[in-house]
Amino acid sequence: MTLRVGLGYDYHRLVEGRKLILGGVEIPFSKGLAGHSDGDVLTHAVCDALLGAAGLGDIGQFFPDTDPKWKDASSLALLARVVEAVGEQGLAVVQVDTVIIAQQPKLAPHFPRMREKLAEVLGVEPAQIGVKAKTTEGLEAIGRGEAMAAQAVALLESTH
Ligand code: MG
Repeated sequence: MTLRVGLGYDYHRLVEGRKLILGGVEIPFSKGLAGHSDGDVLTHAVCDALLGAAGLGDIGQFFPDTDPKWKDASSLALLARVVEAVGEQGLAVVQVDTVIIAQQPKLAPHFPRMREKLAEVLGVEPAQIGVKAKTTEGLEAIGRGEAMAAQAVALLESTH
């Protein structure tokens, strides 16, 4: 069995007048993440981890931000497209683990729903998805509530 590992990282500005979407879940908050799509920094990091593991480049190559098709798109739709491409390479998801870096709001109550949503698109069980969160202790742009970041690793296995 061949195993492949990939790493993903993303960083988005927090702005007023946008919904906050993380892992496909809308979270009540005074700001949301800027971006061409819905700005879902967590799902974007997962996309990049999968693309990296499959040797397929990155999310910027896959979904150019000049493409009107992805304007305000749900990032879960982007992830579904990535999963399809990874599947075409003969690879399936074994495990995905993630960290969200955000000062506010409290995210832990939303982890189960994020894991369910991501697992559904990835075609795995929620137990195969990890979601955690860290603050930056109030330091730097994330600590000032100006941005959020996310990191992800994906483990894929060959299906043949
Ligand atoms: Mg992004």
